[in-house]
Amino acid sequence: MKKIITFFIKNRILVAILLLLALSSWSTVALASANAVVVESNSVNVRVGPGLAYANMGQVKKGDKLAILAEKNKWYQVRLSGDKIGWVASWLIDNTDVSSTTNKVGIVKVPNTTVFKNADANSNVLGTIEQSQKVTIMYQESDWTQILYNGTAGWVKSAFIQGTQETSGSSTTSNTSNTTSDNDIKTVTVTQPNTKLRIDPDQNGRVIKTVKVGKQFDYLSKDGKWYKVRDSDGSIGYVASWVVTVSGTKSAVKSAATNISEATIVIDPGHGGDDSGAESKQSTYEKSFTLAYAKAIKQQLEQTGARVILTRSGDDSQSLGDRARLSSKKQADAFISLHFDSSAQADAGSGVTTYYYNKDKDGQLADSLNSQLKGLAIGNRGTAQKDLYVLHYNSQPSVLIELGYINSKEDYKYINSNTYKQQVAKDVTNGLKNYFK
Ligand SMILES: [Zn+2]
Repeated sequence: MKKIITFFIKNRILVAILLLLALSSWSTVALASANAVVVESNSVNVRVGPGLAYANMGQVKKGDKLAILAEKNKWYQVRLSGDKIGWVASWLIDNTDVSSTTNKVGIVKVPNTTVFKNADANSNVLGTIEQSQKVTIMYQESDWTQILYNGTAGWVKSAFIQGTQETSGSSTTSNTSNTTSDNDIKTVTVTQPNTKLRIDPDQNGRVIKTVKVGKQFDYLSKDGKWYKVRDSDGSIGYVASWVVTVSGTKSAVKSAATNISEATIVIDPGHGGDDSGAESKQSTYEKSFTLAYAKAIKQQLEQTGARVILTRSGDDSQSLGDRARLSSKKQADAFISLHFDSSAQADAGSGVTTYYYNKDKDGQLADSLNSQLKGLAIGNRGTAQKDLYVLHYNSQPSVLIELGYINSKEDYKYINSNTYKQQVAKDVTNGLKNYFK
C-alpha cells in the first residue's frame, strides 16, 4: 500500500504535466546543441523504447530540456526531468528549417475528414479537409496521424490518410541560382513549416523568429541563396530561398513569351513511384496514365517549337515541393499538372476539370486550356478554384487538370484509348497556342 501511495505522489507531477500538455499547442522543437535539445512546444511522445511500437510513457512540452544519451534507429534516448529515461523520435526533435522539409506528404482519402486538436476523437475539432487534398505528415502512429493544418498541428485518423513517398520539399537541391528578376519581386511567401527568419544569411545565423507556412514578408534584396526581407512589425532578417516562393507584380509572373515557340512549359505527370495515385477497376493506376499523357503532350507541343520539361520522365516519386519549384527554377511560362479523378464509389463520377489557384496568375491559362478541352469525349466540368499544393506554391502560371474519372467505366473507356490521349495532347497544345497570342 505504501508503495502505491509513493508511486502516486511521484507521478503526480507527471500527471499534471500531461494535463497541461493536452491544452498546449504545437510549434517546434529545435536543437539547442549537439547533445541536448530544448522543446519549443508540442506534445512530443516519450516512449520506453526506440520505436512507435513501444509504450508511451509520457510527453514533453515547451521549455523542457532533454539531454541526449544515445541514438538508435533515428530515435534519441533522452533523460527527462526526474532522471527518467525514454526515447523520442529524432524527426520530431530535428524539426528545424532544414529537416522539416523532409516531412512526408499524405493524401486525404475520405470526404470532409475531421481534424482534431489531439489524437482523440473527443478532443476539439479544428476543421475538416476535403478528399484528395495533400497534407504534410508530422508524425504517425497506428491509429492517428499528426498533420500540418493551417499552420498548426492537428490529428486525423490514420485510416483516412494515404501515405505517399512524396516529401513536402527538399533543401538540398538548389545549386542553380535563382534567376527571378529582382526588380519585379515584391513579396516573399513561406512554403515550409517552421521557417526561420535569421539575422544573417546563413544556416547558423541567429534565429529572430520562426514563422508558419503562408507567412509573407516584403522583399528587400538577395544575398546568395538568401532573401533579405522585412516583416510587418518592422523586423528585418534573412530567409533561405529554398523555403519560400517569390511573387511580385503581375509582370513578374506573366509570361515574357508572346508566342508558343518562345515558351517554356513544365508538364507535371501526377504521382509516381510508390505513390500510384487512384486505381481503376481494371487495377491500372493513375501514375501510369499521367506519365503517358505527359509524354504525348510533350511530343505534340515540341512541334510548335516550345521547350517542354517534364517533372518526371519515369516511374519515380517527386515531392510536390520539387514539382512546384521546378516551375520557378525553369521560369516556366506555364505549368500543367496532370491527374485523373476518382470517386469514393466506382462509376459515381465523370468529367474533366481544370483547376487554378490564383485567378490573377492562373485564371487565363485555365480558361484557355479548358475551352479546348470542352470538345473531349468526356464531359467538361469547367474551371474551378482550388487550393492545391503544386499550384499554391508555384510562382508561375499553373493549372491542374483532372482528365476524367479513372474508376468510372464510361470515362475509363476513353482514358485508356490512344485516340482520347492524342486529342488531349492536341487540345492542350492549342490551348497554349491561344494563351500566348
Ligand atoms: Zn492525382
